[in-house]
Amino acid sequence: MDVFGLLGDPVGHSLSPPMHEAAYDDLGLDARYVTFEPDDLGAAIEGARALGVAGLNVTIPFKRDALDYVEPDDLAARIGAVNTVDFSAADAGTPPTGHNTDAAGVRRAFAHHDVTLADRDAVVVGAGGAARATAFALADAGATVHVANRTVERAEELAEAVGDRTTAGGLDALEARVSAADVLVNATSVGMEEDRSPVPADALHADLAVLDAVYRPLDTRLLRDARERGATAVDGAWMLLYQGVEAFELWTGRDAPVDAMNAALRGRL
Ligand code: NAP
Repeated sequence: MDVFGLLGDPVGHSLSPPMHEAAYDDLGLDARYVTFEPDDLGAAIEGARALGVAGLNVTIPFKRDALDYVEPDDLAARIGAVNTVDFSAADAGTPPTGHNTDAAGVRRAFAHHDVTLADRDAVVVGAGGAARATAFALADAGATVHVANRTVERAEELAEAVGDRTTAGGLDALEARVSAADVLVNATSVGMEEDRSPVPADALHADLAVLDAVYRPLDTRLLRDARERGATAVDGAWMLLYQGVEAFELWTGRDAPVDAMNAALRGRL
């Protein structure tokens, strides 16, 4: 039996176990996906390798620290966070490889909705972990990215890390930025606790594609405003789904059963 796992704290409400186990069931794989809340991240990763664990996901609060215990691929190194660990090439003494599939989650969520990113103007709201993965994903796909964040210095740091064509600002100029944009991602936590949108509704328009990284609740105020104005609305479960799909494909080398994983995920949201 292959064992996959998730390292995080807390992990009790994680949707990854049902999503990945739905994939194993659909393909008839003899595998299980289990969650851990380790006290010592390095020991946990080394212990997983020693036990023959096939792959790990890493979530809050360990995504940055995991860089110290893996050989990150180029994208994970640039983002500065790892959410997927692959042991397939690791022996005792050699670190496993570290990937960031949150970026692929953003790219593939848009692709699923036939949204093109190349040569588009994109606005990312936020400058935390989700925003970092999003900004790199959009820029790598050929979009011009503007990062808008409540704390402007964090937006500036992220824009500088992403590259020359990426700009940064605060939330005050957001309405004008979004009015002129093709793509918008909310990568803040605004919309989770209260029915509030981080973007003025008047800025949304029919030529815009909007991804809200928030997935609890699924139907956020931002997405309702977007739909009302004829924009393409992509909920956060698509990003969550496709980061898991990408991890599954990295670990197994097989195409993921996307529909089965999506049904398992949405059945729990
Ligand atoms: P994080 O690192 O803590 O970053 C939080 C971001 O939200 C920061 O940019 C912060 O701005 C901003 N923010 C918080 N409260 C705000 C407010 N009242 N007004 C304006 N901005 C505010 O969190 P994260 O890990 O990036 O997660 C952000 C969201 O993305 C969460 O809802 C999370 O569930 C979601 N997420 C979804 C996926 C997915 O697969 N769908 C993956 C990862 C995360 P400051 O810098 O000014 O504090």
